[in-house]
Amino acid sequence: MGLRVAIIGAGMGGLACAAALKGQGADVAIYEQAGAFKRIGAGIQMTPNAVKALRGIGLEEALRDVAFEAALGHNRDAGSGAVTNVLELGQRIVDRCGAPLLTLHRGDLHSTLLSAVPSDVIHMNHRLLGFEQDGGPVTLQFDTGASIEADVVIAADGVHSVVRNQMFGTDAPRFTGRVAYRTTFPASLIGSLQIDDRCKWWGPDRHIVIYYTTRMRSEIYFVTSTPEPDFNVESWSMKGDLAELRAAYADFHPTVRALLDACPDVHKWALVVREPLPSWHEGRVALLGDACHPMTPYMAQGAASAIEDAVILSRCLDGVAAGGVSQALARYQATRYERATAIQQTSAQNTWMREKTDFDWVYGHDVWSQTLA
Ligand SMILES: Cc1cc2nc3c(=O)[nH]c(=O)nc-3n(C[C@H](O)[C@H](O)[C@H](O)COP(=O)(O)OP(=O)(O)OC[C@H]3O[C@@H](n4cnc5c(N)ncnc54)[C@H](O)[C@@H]3O)c2cc1C
Repeated sequence: MGLRVAIIGAGMGGLACAAALKGQGADVAIYEQAGAFKRIGAGIQMTPNAVKALRGIGLEEALRDVAFEAALGHNRDAGSGAVTNVLELGQRIVDRCGAPLLTLHRGDLHSTLLSAVPSDVIHMNHRLLGFEQDGGPVTLQFDTGASIEADVVIAADGVHSVVRNQMFGTDAPRFTGRVAYRTTFPASLIGSLQIDDRCKWWGPDRHIVIYYTTRMRSEIYFVTSTPEPDFNVESWSMKGDLAELRAAYADFHPTVRALLDACPDVHKWALVVREPLPSWHEGRVALLGDACHPMTPYMAQGAASAIEDAVILSRCLDGVAAGGVSQALARYQATRYERATAIQQTSAQNTWMREKTDFDWVYGHDVWSQTLA
């Protein structure tokens, strides 16, 4: 029997990790607190580094089937609409970075990842309460009353990670004072309005990113970063007030205002961050994705980084026996820490791509060919 791996959380990172580990014969189980997966109204960008990571799990074609592939990525001044930077996408970015940049519905990315994991591996309605370890197997306690043993535990339980709290003490992530209004809606609602395939409109203290999420341009997504110091609710289902949103963008270019006028509904999400952690692992337990390096969405690298973690973790655990797990997790951290932290810190600055930007270090990276530490 292969290494017994317990993954906490069936989000982007947890599923990618399970898919990568299954591919090398590990005995994987995922424990997810939710009773069912919901398709929430959000888009997501998979930049070339993320697409390359998913290619190695065999998911590139499935992604390309559903996702939109823009030819250009515009950055514009919010008031005048003047172009401040253009990223050449399509075949140009494939030639330069080895994979396309895809935009898609978040639910479609999740479903694609889910398709790579046998359903009997996922245990829904299992909320982790805590863990115990003393050098041997790790024991996990769940709210169901179940107690489960594993040779290695991967905590992909998101920004409010229970495992992280147990390892480093409980503290709340820091609210940035900004919220993301976001929604997906049918492109038919904008009528004859002409929009870029993918554009970030930069205002002095706020921005909006707009792109298509389906191959046939049938659905539009936008996400903002809007100052709102008094709001601090992080919820994928919390509704936002359309009138407040439109008022916050009243100074933006007519194209943005027309798009917001056409939008029927919006959600609202408080943007939170954490400072980089000193360590991502303890004994046979490791953190992955937002559990260890949550970041602002300004570089579109949160899920990409979780997926990169998953690949490196699977490579570090490949062929390792239970006694070697702790060393393999140290190797995972040593391989991933510098890059993930650099992206986390660069993202926080919110200047990525506004003007001409060196992006090769992010998009050109390939976690499958990277040398392990
Ligand atoms: C507005 C916005 C836009 C974004 N856009 C992009 C983008 O374009 N590109 C990109 O790469 N990233 C983007 N991100 C970031 C991305 O969404 C996250 O970084 C990514 O979802 C992190 O994946 P994860 O697997 O670490 O955590 P999650 O996807 O949050 O998954 C955590 C899972 O763990 C489960 N869980 C939590 N606690 C427990 C427990 N105790 N027991 C069992 N299960 C538990 C949760 O239910 C959940 O299913 C964006 C984020 C936001 C907020």
